[in-house]
Amino acid sequence: MKQKVTRGKPNPGTNKVTKTLKLPLLSLNSVKAKEFSRFEALNTRLANRILALSDEQKRSLSSKDFSDLELGSSWVNQTIRNVQTSEKTKTFKSLPLETNNQNWSLHKVGDTWSVSFNLIRGTRNRVPVNVHASSHVQILEKILNGEAKAGSLKLWRSRKGTWHVCISVTWDVPVTDNANNRWVGCDRGQNIPLVAATPDGPIIFYQARKIRHIRRVYAARRAMLQKLGKTRAVKKLENKEARIVKHINHCLSKDLVALAVRCNAGIRLEDLTGIRNAPQRRSAKSDAGLNRDTWPFYQLESFIKYKAAISGVLIQKVPAAYTTQACNPCGALNKRKKHSYVCTRCGHKAHADGNASQNVRDAETGRFCLLVLKAPEGGCYDGALNEVRDEIGNNLVPRTRTTKSA
Ligand SMILES: [Zn+2]
Repeated sequence: MKQKVTRGKPNPGTNKVTKTLKLPLLSLNSVKAKEFSRFEALNTRLANRILALSDEQKRSLSSKDFSDLELGSSWVNQTIRNVQTSEKTKTFKSLPLETNNQNWSLHKVGDTWSVSFNLIRGTRNRVPVNVHASSHVQILEKILNGEAKAGSLKLWRSRKGTWHVCISVTWDVPVTDNANNRWVGCDRGQNIPLVAATPDGPIIFYQARKIRHIRRVYAARRAMLQKLGKTRAVKKLENKEARIVKHINHCLSKDLVALAVRCNAGIRLEDLTGIRNAPQRRSAKSDAGLNRDTWPFYQLESFIKYKAAISGVLIQKVPAAYTTQACNPCGALNKRKKHSYVCTRCGHKAHADGNASQNVRDAETGRFCLLVLKAPEGGCYDGALNEVRDEIGNNLVPRTRTTKSA
């Protein structure tokens, strides 16, 4: 009798996903807005008061110690906790009001969503505030029917002066086990921020805005301001540049995860840990567009990770070594020339980043095998000098210089 063998990877189960929803308050009248501003100022003063205390005094604090304030006790308690955990802060310029999940609630009447909370000490009734929730309706529905757990609520004013409530929500997402072993391979680079090789073949280049160009322009502007001694303006520009790059990374990661969902595949990334320690040429270091120290690949990775977790997409990291140099069809090592990649053995021509993304995608199954690859003696400029798999199957055929022309 034949025995049935069940294959496949064990189900990794579920992912715990936490997301902060930023919901603008709708039709907030000026009286309420002013009250919020006043309470925020009150809260900031309270935080600075606590900050001035000694560590021992800080530890034994409770909301009763501040009963002179008109702020509700749960808000005071949260501020105490927030100050206790932010050890490095010297003064708070402004600390948003925050309260735990027991002091606010979510309501839905018709299509109108509202949150209610009481700011003022001693009052029981909660004041509902309408929120603009169009893009988060699914998650909010989860809170109402108990599938998701709501955490703390923060009252936050944007730079433009609009008031928002920020709600942290936690829920479970089942992870797809990716039993069909389909992967989207991703190559992150400084010129093209993200290149994705889909399991069905096509390669997608996410150009976004030219990050390299942005970096150079902003570095030049900052250098000019630095010369003039305008340090605050320099800092401001730095923040602006960081915001632009962050926005680009958000867009890229969102598109990539959507692609993986469409392809019904997991995402494979190169493991870039330690790349900051790799030596750089001096010419690269002095060029803001080339300097690897400011390359925001880690931010992009963390965005991809959390967005993938929300969508239940599996993430796998593969070693980054040789992903750019190896030829995807035959496994030979060649050097890229700017954007073009030409294999000196099999004649394969490709965009260098596209070839790299295919190598990441095929990290386990392709001819480019990580375990076999070694840097050949005398460098890898000639290509096809390393051991590769032969035409038929898995036998390793050592290649020598004589086979180069074949
Ligand atoms: Zn080749």
